[in-house]
Amino acid sequence: SMALRPLVAGNWKMNGTKLALKELAGMAEGYDAGLRGKVELMICPPATMLYLAAAAALGSRIAIGAQDCHAAASGAYTGDLSAEMIADCGATAVIVGHSERRQYHRETDADVCAKAEGALRAGLTAIVCVGETRAEREAGKALAVVGRQLARSVPEGANPDNLVVAYEPVWAIGTGLTPTAADVAEMHAHMRRKLVSRLGKQAAGIRLLYGGSVKPSNAAELMGTANVDGALVGGASLKAADFLAIAAAY
Ligand code: PEP
Repeated sequence: SMALRPLVAGNWKMNGTKLALKELAGMAEGYDAGLRGKVELMICPPATMLYLAAAAALGSRIAIGAQDCHAAASGAYTGDLSAEMIADCGATAVIVGHSERRQYHRETDADVCAKAEGALRAGLTAIVCVGETRAEREAGKALAVVGRQLARSVPEGANPDNLVVAYEPVWAIGTGLTPTAADVAEMHAHMRRKLVSRLGKQAAGIRLLYGGSVKPSNAAELMGTANVDGALVGGASLKAADFLAIAAAY
């Protein structure tokens, strides 16, 4: 595949208080010490830390992203945060459609698409997550399910500058299980074809991340797979040493 600048993004989920900013500092240090030319790093901390994290990362070139947003720019939505508010914190990206949001908050593809539209409107990069369940893979439906999620969750106007797609098989998240490199290659080629047919040949430049139990020991194989342009990392992104070791796999 075309050599895109790889992105290794960490999703801290509902973990961390401002004490965790020291991990961010460690990541910035490690990045400057040898990864700068090779890969982009991003950390998506809890929303409570966005402002401090963006300030702490300033000048380090580690990007900061949020984990979710509301579709609207503002309004009577108690407890929600708009993409504009996330941008106001100094973040440059937002994850939308993570499987935990789809599962625990009943987010549909239409919800995810509206949130991604909000991200684009606010000038953020949308990291749109897709992925099949174990039952769907065992039924031979993984390609169809992910193709449908992609078609319905990616908004009009998406391009390589404002869209990243993360393939995260639900059964691989937080389980220590990963698909084979061949299965990842098949899925990522499928996603690339779908995006090119929808968005035109510019879609060759959209980064496709793999996510689900990425760790230092499996990163090189997964990241060396065709059409895998980076990783979305959960558990192993909480500690600077693990996260840097994954990024160094490039
Ligand atoms: C995730 O939830 O985005 C993820 C990839 O988690 P983990 O790396 O912990 O499997």
